[in-house]
Amino acid sequence: MSFMFRKFHSVIGQHHKRITVFTLHQLRMDRVPAATAGVTRNASSFKHENAFIDGKWVPAASGKTFQVINPSTGGVIGSVPDMDAQDTEEAIKVAYKAFQTWKETTARERSGVLRKWAELCTQHKDELAKLLTAEMGKPLAEAAGEVAYGTAFIEWFAEEARRVYGDIIPTTTNTRRMLVLKQPLGVAGMITPWNFPNAMITRKACAAIAAGCTVVLKPAEDTPYSALALCELASMAGMPPGVLNVVTSSRDHAAEVGKMLCKHPLVMKISFTGSTQVGKILLEQSASTVKKVSLELGGNAPFIVFDSADVDAAVKGLMGCKFRVSGQTCVCANRILVQEGIYDKFVQKVAETMDRELKVGDGFEDGTTQGPLINSKAVDKVQGHVDDAVIKGATVVRGGKRLDGNFFLPTLLSHVTQEMRCSSEETFGPVAPILKFKTEEEAVAIANVTSSGLAGYFFSQNLSQIWRVAEQLETGIVGVNEGLVSVPESPFGGWKESGLGSEGSKYGIDEYLHLKYVCMGGI
Ligand code: ADP
Repeated sequence: MSFMFRKFHSVIGQHHKRITVFTLHQLRMDRVPAATAGVTRNASSFKHENAFIDGKWVPAASGKTFQVINPSTGGVIGSVPDMDAQDTEEAIKVAYKAFQTWKETTARERSGVLRKWAELCTQHKDELAKLLTAEMGKPLAEAAGEVAYGTAFIEWFAEEARRVYGDIIPTTTNTRRMLVLKQPLGVAGMITPWNFPNAMITRKACAAIAAGCTVVLKPAEDTPYSALALCELASMAGMPPGVLNVVTSSRDHAAEVGKMLCKHPLVMKISFTGSTQVGKILLEQSASTVKKVSLELGGNAPFIVFDSADVDAAVKGLMGCKFRVSGQTCVCANRILVQEGIYDKFVQKVAETMDRELKVGDGFEDGTTQGPLINSKAVDKVQGHVDDAVIKGATVVRGGKRLDGNFFLPTLLSHVTQEMRCSSEETFGPVAPILKFKTEEEAVAIANVTSSGLAGYFFSQNLSQIWRVAEQLETGIVGVNEGLVSVPESPFGGWKESGLGSEGSKYGIDEYLHLKYVCMGGI
């Protein structure tokens, strides 16, 4: 523990100054003329200090702004417009107008714009990754991974745009023909979180745009710059004004922006990724106009390791599943259930691997695997879960405490029970709590006891057990002998209170399409 603590301080101590210089000076350029494709630029030139509506960079009507903070250094990166309900309504009207022409484009035209957008994101991937690390804190290598993942959604939906097929239904009367058309819904309102500032935007917006919808999107207040950089690249790719609009707002105005999107009659669809609590508010608000709603909400993923598992593979799977983005993903392992025969061996191996592989530090520092948590409130929550577990009898095997700023030591807890908060609530931090179980039935029962149902993982080499458990887990995503499973080609969505609908895959685009039955008579 103390070794990791010292290592952390040496990393931050040596490089804090350099990083502050990067975020405050290199990233301070605000209004930069649009880039020409093919020109390499630094991250600061993609940093926009205005929102993006109708293809223009605009301030809030009120003139208000709010600051964006680097969670690693606490330094101010810059500020963006603090928009409210009035600005949002303006953006909705613009998007509605743009929809009238965007819906008339051919699938091939939409595909072409998306493909060009993906090419530009690839060309400028380094600048996007740096911007992302500066505002969100995740290690640069992870940010680069997210940009590649986010770009893969643009590419995927460029392809899917051309594969939206209707149907012809065998007739029931010879004088009739029966068809099913798929048509775009209209304006889609979107609200995204800070943990994937790039990919959560492309996963939603590209499905909508490919279908022929237009978008008004509010990014998380912590990470607006990645969203705005994507707008610039979309514009460079030839996305017409009004098709993609980004409204930035502080936390103070998030509720009114959300309410406007949910209640406005010109908005046909709401797509949200974030907490279950906010998702429920948006679902309720959307009832007034009976909107189609997609929700990707909180998880409480079980990660089960059976006696039959390849323990080394399970440890490797857990490291990626638990500690990626410092444990701040909704599909992170939250409860690790290990069968009694291998419990001690597994805990020991995880501890050794953590010592070897995890390094806390600033995201720009070479070798950092664990960046900061997003803010001090998140650190308080994680510390609260650890303290609660310790009071109720858990053993701290590694870590267990906060460091300076928003950093938290990667933590391993053994002797965890179901009564502890870390078992029943999503921790959203680098804490691996390990529970012991005796039988498969018991493990499945514990896994399913929660009201969440996003992801579940298990490691086993027993074929019948693999089928049984994969079918019994009440989650929308199951990883079998795999800890990282999300790809654009596969559906992402939760059961129970983890959400509604699916994103990505061939199913994702349906969330933005109406089905229309056309009955042609008199034939
Ligand atoms: P977190 O606590 O991790 O930030 P939230 O669900 O609160 O998760 O935030 C996810 C997104 O939802 C962010 O863009 C945030 O601004 C937005 N948000 C928060 N509260 C509301 C609300 N009442 N209505 C609409 N959007 C909201």
